[in-house]
Amino acid sequence: MKKVLFVDDSSIMRLFARMSTRSIHGISLTEAQDGHDAIEKLEKEPFDLIITDINMPRMDGLQLIRHVRMMGLKFPIIILTTCGEEKDVETGIFLGADDYVTKPITSQKLTMLISNYTNVPALPVST
Ligand SMILES: [Mg+2]
Repeated sequence: MKKVLFVDDSSIMRLFARMSTRSIHGISLTEAQDGHDAIEKLEKEPFDLIITDINMPRMDGLQLIRHVRMMGLKFPIIILTTCGEEKDVETGIFLGADDYVTKPITSQKLTMLISNYTNVPALPVST
């Protein structure tokens, strides 16, 4: 079982991620609502992948990325960003993020991304 931490202050985005990953058996998705919440979860259990928003209250995605790398954690981090935040993406990559994707994102694209970064195959989409 590979563990993915999905960090976004939008409850709709978190629900979207939860629904999208249903087609990937072998993935366990944990939600966090900001960077601070994410770090609390990272201190309790190991994860294999983080997907994080940038703009969030309390602790944003860039601070989260810096903190995760300072903790010595080496798993992949993907930034899920809104159009127009290119500068933030550059900073995020510099701080240790591995990849980025732009919102809006389709369910299939999110599924493929998680599948690729965890090496867990996604099942064909069914309704
Ligand atoms: Mg946000």
